[in-house]
Amino acid sequence: MTVQPTIGVLALQGDVREHLAALAAAGAAARQVRRPEELAGLQGLVLPGGESTTISKLAVLFGLMGPLRAAIRDGLPVYGTCAGMIMLADKILDPRSGQETFGGIDMIVRRNAFGRQNESFEALVDVAGVAGGPVEGVFIRAPWVESVGARADVLAEHDGHIVAVRQARVLATSFHPELTGDHRVHELFVHMVRTES
Ligand code: GLN
Repeated sequence: MTVQPTIGVLALQGDVREHLAALAAAGAAARQVRRPEELAGLQGLVLPGGESTTISKLAVLFGLMGPLRAAIRDGLPVYGTCAGMIMLADKILDPRSGQETFGGIDMIVRRNAFGRQNESFEALVDVAGVAGGPVEGVFIRAPWVESVGARADVLAEHDGHIVAVRQARVLATSFHPELTGDHRVHELFVHMVRTES
């Protein structure tokens, strides 16, 4: 168990800097990850928000698809926000052709699910395991989780839709805590890393 765990942020595309800052504020040593060899020595990994189709394509190009799938399967703690949540779904609805995910959570995710009505909105979300009241959820063309399998726990819902899920060492939220200055969800992830790796 490490006092200050080293946590990577997948830096192919998306809001990488915000996650690096949130992780540092939550007590981790954070660094960018772009290449398979940079996975070595990590105790955890964050998959940022952005565009999952682009992240998927770049992961293939950078040779990260296989190594990351293997790392998650082998128990690396991972937290994905928004596009990152999509990348952690074992199955996605309406993928772009050729779009692949890393998988890790037995859930079906619908891309851009909230986006059809509303490009972007904020809402207070109660997240199981996060004390001190609801977090401000920033939803940007956000996915929701259509259903989860028996191994996954639902941590939060908004408007009757699942927006936060945990399965063992893997955590995913539809929304972006890294954009709010409230570091409690990152603290939950850092706690998972400290206690489970
Ligand atoms: N809609 C985007 C996707 O499909 C996710 C948006 C986001 O990460 N803010 O990847």
